[in-house]
Amino acid sequence: NAYLERIEKLDPSLNSYLIVLADQALEEARAYDTGALPLQDRPLGGVPLALKDVLCTQGVRTTCGSRILEDFIPPYDATVVQRLKESGAIFLGKTNMDEFAMGSSNENSAFGPTRNPWDRQRVPGGSSGGSAAAVAAELCAGALGTDTGGSIRQPASFCGVVGLKPTYGRVSRYGLVAFASSLDQIGPITKDVKDAALLLQVIAGHDPRDSTCLEQPVGDLLTHLDKPIQGMTLGIPKEYFVEGMDPEVSRAMEDAFSVFKDLGARLVDISLPHTDYGVAAYYIIAPAEASSNLARYDGVKYGFRKQQARDLLTMYRETRSHGFGSEVKRRIMLGTYSLSAGYYDAYYRKASQVRTLIKQDFMQAFHHCDVIIAPVVPTPAFKIGEKAQDPLQMYLSDILTLPASLAGIPGISVPCGYTSDGLPVGLQVLGPHFGEPTILQVSHNFE
Ligand code: GLN
Repeated sequence: NAYLERIEKLDPSLNSYLIVLADQALEEARAYDTGALPLQDRPLGGVPLALKDVLCTQGVRTTCGSRILEDFIPPYDATVVQRLKESGAIFLGKTNMDEFAMGSSNENSAFGPTRNPWDRQRVPGGSSGGSAAAVAAELCAGALGTDTGGSIRQPASFCGVVGLKPTYGRVSRYGLVAFASSLDQIGPITKDVKDAALLLQVIAGHDPRDSTCLEQPVGDLLTHLDKPIQGMTLGIPKEYFVEGMDPEVSRAMEDAFSVFKDLGARLVDISLPHTDYGVAAYYIIAPAEASSNLARYDGVKYGFRKQQARDLLTMYRETRSHGFGSEVKRRIMLGTYSLSAGYYDAYYRKASQVRTLIKQDFMQAFHHCDVIIAPVVPTPAFKIGEKAQDPLQMYLSDILTLPASLAGIPGISVPCGYTSDGLPVGLQVLGPHFGEPTILQVSHNFE
């Protein structure tokens, strides 16, 4: 009730929820209160959470922030949704997002942008901006987001909350509406690191319904949290301190470094030499995969269909022209172009080769350090409208989150200070594949 009341009071000005499931949530809460549902063996018994609206929920509208799925009601739950339900979580609703998770500001939602709770003139980040804003404004106890190139870490940083992108293959993507399948991962957005570990513990692990979900056991993510990090080596990549970085972000980083020194960690300089090519490689690979994944929205199988079209091809064209927003169309065109015969080698293959180099950079670096620490974004949250007309500026703002996505390694964003205007700044902790216990431990010691 407390959360639902807050949502009613605050969300009209934040727009972080697309759907609020008030009746269903209260009914389930009551079932736990009365004992009709047992709390025993349910680590999240009665905990009210929110889900990014890209995760399929049986019988509940799942829009992906798009007109084309405005009326889509999935007949099944995503694996993560099912696992959360089994662990006792209650869903308060589905959160706003950039259309099909394409964006860094939530301005690409077909249902209006979400606002940053710290300053409503500013973006909450994207694409999981609705989830991050809802957690920051205490409109839920925690949430799930998805990260393809930064969409969990960047909004967490802009909203002053914790966001964890797991290793690619750690969490099942079954029932996650696909954007770029080789990059997409689901992860928690929470108030603190322990909550992130709790949620990840529930959603992670093998699922036969996703062939890219790995069998490696998850282990206990909570036991490591409190272990001191004395003697650990933290790498600082010089390429992540980019030109144009906000001086207040640099200052917050310097402060974070001294906290780590006080905790007894050893800080070393490292190099990730191909960082500069991350944006170019990602913005070939992600749109290429998206153009293929989004071919299924043809007005026949899902959601919206343009009525009274003259013939089949016109129906396809009009459905897609009307159903998709401009950023999604831009990506479909870029992706279709770079995958077409004659261009494939020059673009998609080249980008895949660069991706391998970026991955090798990280593998090399982890010979010299246990984890990498860096800023999440070079700036704090920007103003609504500031970059909306300039896609390239928007893409460039992802420069520090894309490389980890391309490499498939885990990363967490944890609050590390404020600018003089009171805007939160996030610190990114990156680990080797399956290094979730270590990045959770480091960030928990820090927070
Ligand atoms: N901002 C990036 C993009 O627009 C990343 C999005 C994401 O991680 N879903 O593609």
